[in-house]
Amino acid sequence: MREKINIVWYKKDLRITDHRPLFEASRLGSVLCVYFFEPEIMSGDDYHISHLKFAKESLEDLNRELSFVNGRLLILHCSAINGFQRLLKKFDIQKVFSHEETGNHLSYKRDIAMKNWFLHQKIQWIEYPSNGIMRGLKNRRNWFSCWQKYMRSSLVKTPMKLVAPSDHLKNDPIKLTPNLRNHSDRNYRQKGGRSLALKYLRSFLSVRGSKYLKGISSPSTSRKACGRISPYLAFGSLSLREVYQQVESLQNNEQHQDFYWKKSLSAFKSRLRWRSHFIQKLESQPGMELQNMNPGFNGMRSEEPNWKLLDLWQEGRTGYPIIDASMICLKETGWINFRMRAMLVSFVSYHLWQHWREPANILARLFLDYEPGIHYPQIQIQSGVTGINTIRMYSPLKQATEQDPHGDFIKTYIPALKNLPPPFIHDPSQLTKIDEIQFNFKPGADYPHPCVDHEFVYNHAKDIIYQWREKEKVKQHAQSILKRLVCR
Ligand SMILES: Cc1cc2nc3c(=O)[nH]c(=O)nc-3n(C[C@H](O)[C@H](O)[C@H](O)COP(=O)(O)OP(=O)(O)OC[C@H]3O[C@@H](n4cnc5c(N)ncnc54)[C@H](O)[C@@H]3O)c2cc1C
Repeated sequence: MREKINIVWYKKDLRITDHRPLFEASRLGSVLCVYFFEPEIMSGDDYHISHLKFAKESLEDLNRELSFVNGRLLILHCSAINGFQRLLKKFDIQKVFSHEETGNHLSYKRDIAMKNWFLHQKIQWIEYPSNGIMRGLKNRRNWFSCWQKYMRSSLVKTPMKLVAPSDHLKNDPIKLTPNLRNHSDRNYRQKGGRSLALKYLRSFLSVRGSKYLKGISSPSTSRKACGRISPYLAFGSLSLREVYQQVESLQNNEQHQDFYWKKSLSAFKSRLRWRSHFIQKLESQPGMELQNMNPGFNGMRSEEPNWKLLDLWQEGRTGYPIIDASMICLKETGWINFRMRAMLVSFVSYHLWQHWREPANILARLFLDYEPGIHYPQIQIQSGVTGINTIRMYSPLKQATEQDPHGDFIKTYIPALKNLPPPFIHDPSQLTKIDEIQFNFKPGADYPHPCVDHEFVYNHAKDIIYQWREKEKVKQHAQSILKRLVCR
């Protein structure tokens, strides 16, 4: 006879704290925790080997945590459906518990297929809301008050002791899918796991956070001043609710009452809400990963990528130092601050006039914290195709002089420019022939010439985008987006 068990299906929630599926399963008897490295998901255009490695590190930590409460984590390398079929041969599966996932179209399709499969097998699949996201929401009326109520509600208890199945299955070895074979991991990325997640959070809330508001916009200062918890939230090593509650408790703490702490904590807390606000958009309109949120903009940019331009952008060879340094920084570390992300998308969308689809994939692979629900809405906002947000076209030179006045960030990632002082480090095309001799620098040979003429492409893009925004079709769709997706 097959052993009766319940399963906790781990996805993007790699922790045991504040984990309702684990808690509920633990009350019913024997529990097996499983995680699948799914080849279909790993083959996605948005997946990178750094995501795989980060997941592995997070799972090692999860395994350690589970072992403290006698839990068992099984890691399989197969599609979810094959995995459950394999488990069904060994076990009499009673119920499967998991968090709802607001992921990319591959995980969305997978979940629909699994729903049917579980139904067919007469296995009850119980999904719990994740991170304050509400499934099946028709509009955003009362969204904020419901969200806040959830964030302020008690954390789910961590089970003290689990009953593990007696049958021991072995983990699968994880093989690379063909797309990952030519990827290399990021040399200086954050490492995965809850212990590190807690370290980042603690150091932010006790020391680093006081400089948050002042440091958030510069690519250099933001590396310390920002929370840097995004990959841990994306993989679920931290629950959003636990972070939110820690912040609220500090807002009443004596040591955090000075002007900077108060402002910083409040700004940080808003961003935790933005996180859910954006993910809720993808939850309510899953198509936005593949199509313009506002179809009135269809046809404005060609969907055919210009790979010559895109390659310059993704390889950090546009000839615009702040753009190139940001890209190289992403390649090496997997993280850059919000302002530089927005600027990179603005540049590829307006200066290079590329459709957002391919850049979205390229950046998804570069961002260690890739979270589809934040990523796609942000990409669409920054490329100007929502019709409901202010158009933000960034000037690379202005950003460089304001956010990296001495060129320290640029020097770190583009050593070829390290001997140029401002303003040349921000714009080497300003060097005269005499300057070139003085600084022993040859534009075009030591560093590429700008790939496009800023004044020309910027003004051209501005004319087009503002013309399109005035179209009746765009305005009509904007109205319906406002009704559905915007909070009141
Ligand atoms: C084009 C573009 C794509 C982006 N893609 C992602 C993505 O895939 N994953 C991701 O986590 N963030 C994304 N962001 C938002 C933001 O840049 C990152 O959340 C932030 O830089 C993460 O660093 P941090 O943890 O130090 O953030 P902090 O500033 O310390 O903020 C704390 C947390 O709040 C949330 N948050 C912060 N800013 C935003 C925001 N603008 N919108 C929604 N939530 C926010 C994040 O979960 C973040 O971890 C994107 C921004 C842009 C412009």
